Amino acid sequence: MGMFDWVDYECDCPVCGDKVTGFQTKETECELEIVSPEKAQFFYSKCEKCGAWLQAQYVPPTKASIHVEATQRGGMHIFKKNYPVL
Ligand SMILES: [Zn+2]
Repeated sequence: MGMFDWVDYECDCPVCGDKVTGFQTKETECELEIVSPEKAQFFYSKCEKCGAWLQAQYVPPTKASIHVEATQRGGMHIFKKNYPVL
């Protein structure tokens, strides 16, 4: 039994534009499996380049986008961006 599952998703950092991978979720079985964004619903990662914390939410009504919020480390500004589902 693990602590989270990996999410098959990557996007550009809303803060610095660098590629962000390694999204994780605790919404699923948490056995270090790779799950789809749709199954995970809520997931998160950290930008290796600028340290921003990204919280992502799959948007069900249209199934057309994933909503990402990034909080810059040490700051209060929240960056929001929608990405198409791959
Ligand atoms: Zn970044």
